[in-house]
Amino acid sequence: MLIYKGIKFDDWVDNKDNYSEEDGLDGYWCEICNRCYKEFADKLYEKVVKGAACGTCSVYGCDREADHYVDFERNEVKITEVA
Ligand SMILES: [Zn+2]
Repeated sequence: MLIYKGIKFDDWVDNKDNYSEEDGLDGYWCEICNRCYKEFADKLYEKVVKGAACGTCSVYGCDREADHYVDFERNEVKITEVA
């Protein structure tokens, strides 16, 4: 589980493998659907890259089609193995 400000994500990608200086981000990214984005907009609004996703929403308990990406820096999230 990846946790950011109490929001749980059950799926994420570690940028470690394809990190580049140009991207400027060493961390993780998730995908999120429009409904979850609205629900957590107050916590995620500055993290979301709108309209770019093409997978399944990463929010725990949600399996809708994703609409947006969310970028996280490595030190601002907590990764746990246990759900
Ligand atoms: Zn969702």
